[in-house]
Amino acid sequence: MNANSLVITLPDWLNERLTAPVHLQSDEARMRFVIDLARENVIRGTGGPFAAAVFREDDGALMAAGVNSVLRLNNAMLHAEVVALMFAQARVGSYTLRAVGASYDLVTACEPCAMCLGATLWSGVRRLVCGATRDDAERVGFDEGPVFPESYAYLEQRGITIVRQVLRTEAAGVFDLYVRSGGVVYNG
Ligand SMILES: [Zn+2]
Repeated sequence: MNANSLVITLPDWLNERLTAPVHLQSDEARMRFVIDLARENVIRGTGGPFAAAVFREDDGALMAAGVNSVLRLNNAMLHAEVVALMFAQARVGSYTLRAVGASYDLVTACEPCAMCLGATLWSGVRRLVCGATRDDAERVGFDEGPVFPESYAYLEQRGITIVRQVLRTEAAGVFDLYVRSGGVVYNG
């Protein structure tokens, strides 16, 4: 492969899903959308049981979505949250979602790992909404890395509102589906 450039793509099924505009107002509706993407990523065999999306806070417009693409693209950094944040920043044309005249939320089917919590901070989102918990992910073998209560407190001090355990049971159920379907549990 050409190692002088990187191309980050979404799976075809997700691109098709994103052709029509999506507006979702409540955290529950947004989480349900994200959990559906995580489940589809497992069923289609395009990656791990994780998905995330960035929504514009005021009107609920979906700006970008991402699914875990670590295995598909051989890139340990391509967690769902990172993918969604990168596509959202590309769409608004700014390296921070804080400076573009609107507030944005990151909705993720699982509490972020250490890397994604950092990406959340640097991305400029105003809210972080999580479904399944760290314990749910670690129960099936995923490692979330060095995330501490202080990590969440740090983000909150920087003005990021954090909402956790939205539709937790449904989100965690996708992990079980992944394990039952023989999915690879990887770390790093
Ligand atoms: Zn992550």
